[in-house]
Amino acid sequence: MKPGDTLTESTAATAADTTTEPAIVFDRVGVRYGGGRKTTVALADFTLRVAAGETVALLGPSGSGKSTALKALAGFVRPTSGAVRLAGRDVTDLSPAKRGIGVVVQSYALFPHMTVHGNVAFGLKSHRVPRRDIEGRVREALGMVGMAEYAKRLPRELSGGQQQRVAIARALAIRPKVLLLDEPLAALDAQLRQSMLGELQQLRKALPDTAMLYVTHDQSEALALADRIAVMRDARLVDIDTAENLWQRPPTGFTAAFLGGANLLPCTVNRVSGGAGLVTVGSHTLRTQAPKPGVGQQDWAPDATALLCVRPHTVRIGAVGERDALRGTVLSSVWRGASTRLRISVDGLPEELAVDVPGHPAAEVGAVIGVLFPDPAGVLIPATVGAESLPAAPNSGSGQTGARA
Ligand code: ADP
Repeated sequence: MKPGDTLTESTAATAADTTTEPAIVFDRVGVRYGGGRKTTVALADFTLRVAAGETVALLGPSGSGKSTALKALAGFVRPTSGAVRLAGRDVTDLSPAKRGIGVVVQSYALFPHMTVHGNVAFGLKSHRVPRRDIEGRVREALGMVGMAEYAKRLPRELSGGQQQRVAIARALAIRPKVLLLDEPLAALDAQLRQSMLGELQQLRKALPDTAMLYVTHDQSEALALADRIAVMRDARLVDIDTAENLWQRPPTGFTAAFLGGANLLPCTVNRVSGGAGLVTVGSHTLRTQAPKPGVGQQDWAPDATALLCVRPHTVRIGAVGERDALRGTVLSSVWRGASTRLRISVDGLPEELAVDVPGHPAAEVGAVIGVLFPDPAGVLIPATVGAESLPAAPNSGSGQTGARA
């Protein structure tokens, strides 16, 4: 796959079979903002299906089109092309209120002059829920997020985390089949974010039939919550799969670097068979995993150029002269608490290597050390994404960031 190519899910979206219609379908959706020279393509040829009960995270750097996708589904933005469907029904031209979707945004968007109760009830009234049902539904929704006793408070009398819980309760009160969350934790401090993440996991379990689309630029949120992760870049879907698969066998350099951080070492394929192979990196020969390339990508051919993806935490440092150790010089060392990120110039490798070692080792800048790759050293990735266009992976506090960041 070339950069800029659009990934279309192998089972293309179709409205034909209504018995198995997914809860959410984006069918080749395009969105442009503005006109003339100022046109921005915010979403291009975007196809995605989310099943009832499934949570998909839209993960990507700022400006990659994640929020626009959510807005197109919620009805806040009209697609320029393509269609959005909910449980088989084309809702592309339906007003937001008639879609029955629960939406939670980063800024909470609560009415400041209304109590917690009023805010949740407002959503129900605008969805024309009968008056006699409103009281019970408000109580139920506030109960789900542990806010029942705060019903009489105003938003300004609540912490950020509590306000976000109210916003979630407001979205849940309409008992939506589809719940959209746009960076819901981004405005919270790191500690609160962790505890809210746990609460969102609980909520997911409590709503086994609800389809969720969760927008984030934070890989740790996507890994914690999503059944599948859709990686976005420049208005397009780049890769989509389970978190496990994307992590273990990233199909593209972009996803490798964005999800978890990676060294992407240019290499030449020597030979590949049965999912494993040998590659030449600089003046070294290393063993690698070599999963079958994805649809539209060429199989691994001898002498082909590729990228060897090596996760920083899988490399070990030791003494020079240790068996199988390559000789390296420490270029920088940044202690991060649980681990230390070293940048190492390894003799015979074309690029410097990022290595995460546990704790706070005594590895001074300039020290000469032994560098031990795991066996296999990493996983092979098609060389379709140039180094210049790799993302700066977000520092999500997970202790691993993009090696090129
Ligand atoms: P993300 O959610 O991934 O950060 P967005 O969907 O918000 O990305 O934005 C995608 C692109 O569309 C960006 O280039 C952004 O600047 C642009 N964009 C978003 N909203 C508007 C708007 N209302 N008018 C013009 N351009 C917009």
